[in-house]
Parts: sequence; structure tokens; C-alpha cells
Amino acid sequence: KKIIIAIDGYSACGKSTTAKRVAEELGYAYIDSGAMYRAVTLYFLDNHVSITNLKEVERALEKINIHFENISGANTTFLNGANVEKQIRKMNVSNHVSEVSTLAVVRHAMVAQQRAMGKRKGVVMDGRDIGTVVFPDAELKVFMTAEMGIRAGRRQLELLEKGQALNLDEIRENLEKRDHIDATREESPLRKADDAVILDTSGITLEEQVQQVVALAKE
Ligand code: C5P
Repeated sequence: KKIIIAIDGYSACGKSTTAKRVAEELGYAYIDSGAMYRAVTLYFLDNHVSITNLKEVERALEKINIHFENISGANTTFLNGANVEKQIRKMNVSNHVSEVSTLAVVRHAMVAQQRAMGKRKGVVMDGRDIGTVVFPDAELKVFMTAEMGIRAGRRQLELLEKGQALNLDEIRENLEKRDHIDATREESPLRKADDAVILDTSGITLEEQVQQVVALAKE
């Protein structure tokens, strides 16, 4: 039986890497909810949408269309028909995305789209509120954690592989800032769902993380 797997947790705990691999192993669809908030943020930055002006934000949201495509095996984010996968991973977007994600209107628009994408079972979705808000009835909920030093180091490597060389302090600062905003915002703050399984990835390999989630999914 195909199920919905919700993977939540702090930034850079390995959620998306794990979710992607689990989806591959199970033949499920992978949906990166963070990419959607990043795409909205990119649109706001490019079009000078002020997040303090709610009318402006609402008008902008109506003009935003996000979809995903699989391009040679890689999950790729499109904003209004353009491939924005590279741009949404830039520090400029990372530095603004959590503020944009505090807005209830933005969250409501994203959650509606995410639920529509989960209509067909067999989905792995990662984010901050998947098990608590988007799919409170998900059959499997995983809450991933890891030590800050490890998270920053892994994110540094991942960005380097994408051609972005950043120092550890800058990455750590960004992760701490996003964690704080995500966990303290009023609208669906990041928290572990009561029925989520905690997966601490500090001392285990990616392969072990994947196998643990796959095993839980098969229970
Ligand atoms: O997952 P990722 O780190 O790419 O997400 C970027 C940001 O988007 C997070 O720091 C958070 O502010 C926001 N986000 C969210 N809810 C989600 C997914 C992401 O608020 N479900």
C-alpha cells in the first residue's frame, strides 16, 4: 500500500537528500516544499515585492506558478515556466526565505498546492510543517535532527558541489537564523508532530538514514 511520508526538521539536517533517496527506493514522488518557499522568495526579491505590504504580497502570489520537473534524474524547480533550481539555492534567497515563510497568506497558498500534490499517495515530502499541518494524517512522520557543527559542514560540502564556496561561519549563521525564525513564527511554527519518529543523523551515514526511513515505511 502506498503511503504519505512526511519528513520535517531544522535546516540542513539531511531532509531533502534522505527524502529524495527514500522516494527512489520506494518508487514514490519526492516533493521539496522548501523549494516552493524559496521560489516565492526569489519572485519577491526579483520583483521588489515588499513583505510588509499584504496587498502587494497577495497580488504577487496570484502571479506565481511553481512546478517541478525531473531533469535527468534531478528534481528541478520551475517558477512561471523558468528553471530556477540554481537561483533558489543562492545565499540571497536563503537569507530571506524564512521571513517570507512567516506570512500566513504565503503559507496558505503553498499548503493548498502541497496538499493537491499529495492527492495521489506514494509521496515523500520534506519541510517544516508537513507532519503537523500539510499532512497531519500522514502514515509515516519523521523528524530529523543533527548537531549544528555537522549540519553546517554538510551544507558547506553540498554548496561546494554546486559551485558555491562559502565559509562555515556564514553557513552556520544562516542556519541558526532560519531555525530561530522557523521555530518561533506564529503561523505553523516548526515543531515535531506528536506521532513523528525522531531521527538523529549526527553519527550515521546517508545510506543508514535512508535505510531506516525505508524500513519504517515498510512496517
Ligand atoms: O527546506 P529548505 O531549507 O530549503 O527551506 C527553506 C526555508 O523555507 C526554511 O528555512 C523555512 O523558512 C521555509 N519552509 C517552511 N515550511 C516548509 C518548508 C520550508 O517554512 N514546509
